[in-house]
Amino acid sequence: MKRVLILGSTGSVGTQAIEIAGRSPDLQIAGLAAGRNWELILEQAREHGVPTVALADPGAAAQAADAWRGRVLEGEEGIRELIATSGADLVLNGMVGAAGLGPTVLALTEGIDVALANKESLVIGGELVTALAEGTGARIIPVDSEHSALHQLIAGQAAGTVERLVLTASGGPFRERADLSGVTPEEALTHPTWDMGGRITVDSATLMNKGFEVIEAHHFFDVGYDRIDVVVHPQSIVHSLIDMIDGATLAHLGLPEMRVPISYALHYPERADVAVPRLDLASVGALTFEAAEPDRFPCMRLAREAGEAGGTAPCVLNAADEVAVAAFLAGEIPFTGIAEVVERALEAMPADPVSHFEQLFACDEDARRRAAELAREVAPA
Ligand code: MG
Repeated sequence: MKRVLILGSTGSVGTQAIEIAGRSPDLQIAGLAAGRNWELILEQAREHGVPTVALADPGAAAQAADAWRGRVLEGEEGIRELIATSGADLVLNGMVGAAGLGPTVLALTEGIDVALANKESLVIGGELVTALAEGTGARIIPVDSEHSALHQLIAGQAAGTVERLVLTASGGPFRERADLSGVTPEEALTHPTWDMGGRITVDSATLMNKGFEVIEAHHFFDVGYDRIDVVVHPQSIVHSLIDMIDGATLAHLGLPEMRVPISYALHYPERADVAVPRLDLASVGALTFEAAEPDRFPCMRLAREAGEAGGTAPCVLNAADEVAVAAFLAGEIPFTGIAEVVERALEAMPADPVSHFEQLFACDEDARRRAAELAREVAPA
């Protein structure tokens, strides 16, 4: 029996992870953590007999403690305590944003394997996080569909035989739209193939999400940026590909269905039955591919440049993007202003080498402040 801790249990990945764990005789939920949705987390805890929950929001934690006889931990410190004391074999980190980095670091420090859905852990902290995992022997298993595909494709290939990684991108809702300056938040929040949270949906529309995924792939698989490509594939059936040194290309296919990579990460190295519709290629009909144009989607270019610069640059990239997306969703800056804010933040804060996590937390704060100033300078929406 594998004891699993689910962080971000009330979000999209978290609720699906609970559903999978609940149906699996091999998985036991050891604890749950969420931001502020105390009613849902208590419902989850009751249904699955979970003894301890943590809520980042102190007010929500107080309400949960009043309404439930189980153990309720509070704040960031409470989430840390949950990780350190739950006796988990695996932490599924489905937290949103830079706040997810600390829990990833703690779990790996404790030698606990991490099923990683929190992109920021590797985007911001990739260099230190992978070194930490190597040091403690804890594994990081990807949850993101593209990296899960790559993980499965690369497994079993001899060292030195994989020449290139190719991530697929749906292209977002504006793949065929010529002028992106008038895009509204409502339009950007509608994703053609994946149903996800607000920020990641906007990041998918700017293709910043794909840029983050290139950085993640670099760290997950220790592959240079010159050997990681992106191809646009609107149907989201091929989840990624690898080119082998002998000219063969291997692809991973499936319907766009997050329960598949979530189950893979939760059960790894085993596999389990997942009750999802099976891929029927005849009914899909055609799979199409096109080049990912960096000129049309500057965020993808900025992410690659920040990844190549390394050090603090990806931290600035992420923080500036988070602030810029929030400003866009609040109607303060236009859609095209997101890339503008990010680019100017990266210019204003050149990359520093990173030697410890505290440096990243400080950089994250600085970058947010700087990006907020820059967002006010961008022409309003
Ligand atoms: Mg993805």
